[in-house]
Amino acid sequence: MTNKILFIANWKMFGNLNSVKSIESVINLSKKKNYKNAKIIYCPPYTLLDKFVIKTRKTKLCVGAQNCHQVINTGPYTGAISTTMIKKIGAKYVIIGHSENRSNGETNNQINKKIHSAISNNLIVIFCIGENLFEKKHNRTNNILKKQIYLGLKQIKKIDKIIFAYEPVWSIGTGKILTNKELTKQIIIIKNIIKNLYKKQKTKIIYGGSVNNKNINNLKQINEIDGFLIGGASKSSKKFIDIIKNYYR
Ligand code: PEP
Repeated sequence: MTNKILFIANWKMFGNLNSVKSIESVINLSKKKNYKNAKIIYCPPYTLLDKFVIKTRKTKLCVGAQNCHQVINTGPYTGAISTTMIKKIGAKYVIIGHSENRSNGETNNQINKKIHSAISNNLIVIFCIGENLFEKKHNRTNNILKKQIYLGLKQIKKIDKIIFAYEPVWSIGTGKILTNKELTKQIIIIKNIIKNLYKKQKTKIIYGGSVNNKNINNLKQINEIDGFLIGGASKSSKKFIDIIKNYYR
């Protein structure tokens, strides 16, 4: 996996055919020497996956899906997309365990099956973990993270195809964000949980939750972070570019 800083755009349920062209400015940015260490990945809705794959062909950008079904190939699962389908369309990444899906009833057990499916299809998993406000207020953050990691990664032997995305649920789309000191502490705790399970295997951990072109100036000072999962601010190429530019300023 890459050693570059990851900038992952999660477009959620936004975007249409007209939005595909809007990423051209991001493609142009990725060609500049100053940003050679930025790994930019777009996760558009399923309806645009093939368009994004075509658009980013022969560029440094990559494409990922926002979710997947746990069954590997095909089956009678209305509305679902398998990791084989994602792989075949040319996407390389898949977000699994996003809190917006967890809050819709997705369980750690299902997440674990999805991760197995993704890895067997050689996709790189962006594995989201994070506590909600209730859990934070009741000092349950570390237990919740531990549970999400342990159950989500059951029977997973290697984490070279997994990017851990720490996304405090209360921070997603709210503008609220931990201080650098708090976030650094939390990332170190997560790294230790992972280390306990995977010993000397290399860990990749990114942060997500209200990242924007202003707070990136603080966030970039945290050496423990390997990149960012960006929702709201990634839909506008201008805002997304500003985040990347400010990171390298
Ligand atoms: C997300 O949905 O993964 C996310 C981080 O959203 P936002 O940047 O809008 O908080």
